[in-house]
Amino acid sequence: MRVAIVSDIHSNIAALQAVIADINTRGVDKIVCLGDIVGYGPAPNECVEIIRQKADICLMGNHDWAVLGEEDLAYFNSFARQAVMWNQEQLTGDSENFLRALPFIKVEGECTFVHSSPFEPQTWTYIINKNDAQFEFEHFQTQLCFVGHTHVAGIFLKKDQKIIFHMDDKMYLKEDEKLIINVGSVGQPRDFDSRSSYGILDLKNRLFEFHRITYDIESTQLSMEKFGLPKYLIDRLSYGR
Ligand code: ZN
Repeated sequence: MRVAIVSDIHSNIAALQAVIADINTRGVDKIVCLGDIVGYGPAPNECVEIIRQKADICLMGNHDWAVLGEEDLAYFNSFARQAVMWNQEQLTGDSENFLRALPFIKVEGECTFVHSSPFEPQTWTYIINKNDAQFEFEHFQTQLCFVGHTHVAGIFLKKDQKIIFHMDDKMYLKEDEKLIINVGSVGQPRDFDSRSSYGILDLKNRLFEFHRITYDIESTQLSMEKFGLPKYLIDRLSYGR
């Protein structure tokens, strides 16, 4: 069984199409989306439609929740807030219904899937450093926990009470280790690499691999310009931070 895990698409249709095209070449049995399909970018409904068709499991993200009008917008900086409000205006009834039905956390086999963190997923906590990870490791029962939210790809590994952070692009799973894997962001990476990020878990070969995919950043930037979305968010796509 091979599972592709994507997250933080943020209405970036060019990025999502490039990632789906890459997934299609890699013999994957299942696709999981960790949320934040919408927000920031220019194509919320198109992204919801692709995920609705392609993903076997999809989780709620904080931007999805905000675009549904469920989050206090004071929580966002002014650029993100502007983009959330624009995404809100575009959202069709079908997209809204799909997003509203998404769960906040899902456990399947040896994996926990959640947008932000396994402890109280609805508080949208960021797992940034080893201390954050230490706490979160106590709050899921499976060997693996997949998260997004920070837009920074990487793996927290726990072995014998010790926590190590890895950015290696592949890792073999060992029985005595527990992992929190952040798959990074499809539509707005913030880890100094502007290419889309996603991961593939190969359960048979006990292997997890990150993939970075080049996409047409300029086409997304041009659409964002056309719709008057904040320049800061447009420029950020090419910096990857
Ligand atoms: Zn996000």
